[in-house]
Amino acid sequence: MIKKRNTASKNEVLAVLKENKTAMSQDELEKILKNKMDRVTIYRILYSFCDDGILHKVMSDEGKTYFALCKDCDENHHHDSHFHFRCTVCNKIECLNASLSLNLPLNYVQKEVNLMVTGICSNCV
Ligand SMILES: [Zn+2]
Ligand SMILES: [Zn+2]
Ligand SMILES: [Zn+2]
Repeated sequence: MIKKRNTASKNEVLAVLKENKTAMSQDELEKILKNKMDRVTIYRILYSFCDDGILHKVMSDEGKTYFALCKDCDENHHHDSHFHFRCTVCNKIECLNASLSLNLPLNYVQKEVNLMVTGICSNCV
């Protein structure tokens, strides 16, 4: 069954993200999962997780896309307008608890917010 195979691959991708605890790029995931699935499969899984409210995309200040686990999102609503922190030493990207609420003009719909802080994490200070 195709569906079963998909579920197994999805679980493997999710396990890696949960174990890693920080946001990961597709390249990083590919390196870890290269013997188990191809890049197209990983790409599809990552984007379907974004649709399902399991992952959110994080655009780094260097223009690279990372994926981080969502906390309380579902398929209809993402609320990940929190700050992200990129350590300039180890290059890890983390979700911060700090968030920002914006007052957009009337009838403007917010889709994605890109809040990236760069600095040095506690492991690297
Ligand atoms: Zn989310
Ligand atoms: Zn660091
Ligand atoms: Zn985040």
